[in-house]
Amino acid sequence: MLDLEHLRRDTPGCLERVFLDSAGSSLPPQPVLATVIGHLRREAQVGGYVAAAERADDLAAVRVSLARLIGASPGQIALMDSATRAWSEFVSAIGFGSGDRILISQVEYASNAITALHRARATGATVEAVPSDPKGRIDLEALDRMLDERVRLVSLVHVPTNGGLINPIREVVELAHRHGALVLLDACQSVGQIPIDVSMLGVDALSTTGRKWLRAPRGTGFLYVREELVRSIEPSALDLHSAEWTAPGEYRPAPDATRFELFECDVAARLGLGAAAEYLLGIGIDYAAGAIADRAERMRSDLSDLRGVTLRDLGTDRSGIVTFTVDGSDPHEVREQLARKQITVTVSGRSSTLLDMQARGLDGVVRASAHYFVSDSDIDRFLTAVADLE
Ligand SMILES: *Cc1c(COP(=O)(O)O)cnc(C)c1O
Repeated sequence: MLDLEHLRRDTPGCLERVFLDSAGSSLPPQPVLATVIGHLRREAQVGGYVAAAERADDLAAVRVSLARLIGASPGQIALMDSATRAWSEFVSAIGFGSGDRILISQVEYASNAITALHRARATGATVEAVPSDPKGRIDLEALDRMLDERVRLVSLVHVPTNGGLINPIREVVELAHRHGALVLLDACQSVGQIPIDVSMLGVDALSTTGRKWLRAPRGTGFLYVREELVRSIEPSALDLHSAEWTAPGEYRPAPDATRFELFECDVAARLGLGAAAEYLLGIGIDYAAGAIADRAERMRSDLSDLRGVTLRDLGTDRSGIVTFTVDGSDPHEVREQLARKQITVTVSGRSSTLLDMQARGLDGVVRASAHYFVSDSDIDRFLTAVADLE
């Protein structure tokens, strides 16, 4: 049986402060920390190659754990150093031509949008944003109207970085596939907080990061690519791990998603990513999802009672990200005042999700994201501090 005290004892950082930034960079649990530090120590004793060889089985198991977490098979997972790397390596592997269209979301994350614009500039493709509907979700009717045979890729952000909404996936996949477009799901803010099953959802690829809701070390992330698709696309970077030099003028890419990986990597961080996935599987994604949703709903409901506080979350289906502004206070000033009381929140600024923030006339929002290890009294402290803002 899970109890909060146990989960909190496993999370040294949460005892010293009210930590509400799991959407930014969460606190890794003790087993993740021990795995990473233990491996760094071992590398210092025997060298990186021997240390990695000793953990070969555990390294192979990282992909197995991540696959279990999202309903994939291990061969469909490529370990990456960030979500942005995963997203951009996948998109770069799609050979766009002049006149091809890339559709992004109105809540697209800046790094994805920049990569899409970069690819478009290099290939003559175009980038267009699918608007959000009045509730803030991706506008399915607009998407339907925009789709044609020139659309090669639809980038769908599952949960935006700047607000609590959850976008529908299946409906987007059905529409896109009807027109032969691929769907790349940015699941950065959902893997680890919301159950995801790629085999049910039918997305062609998914990118995500380790350090947010998964509570893995920094510098980790992964890419999922559908099996038949991965064999038909070649990543822009290949090496002796992702491909084999078979004859003087020949090479053969790996048959599975590992064709997206490079040989060199932070082995300790990868083992830490595996430990984080196992930790979550041990807790159960349903438990995590329920606990996160409860905390977010409580924060929303109590924040909305505070005078001068405006909740900024859209959507009908809500995630663990709570965003708000305070009348007359710059979001950065709110963050600093809370930080002085050992309460960690962050600011989601205009340029991170430019289209959406512009459309809503927002420069920045305060973002509070509570993981399952956040206690009721942590939330009390946070709400009192917001009520007491000067
Ligand atoms: C954080 C975030 C990213 C980028 O993740 P990195 O690991 O920093 O590359 C992409 N999309 C969304 C929605 C995010 O919140």
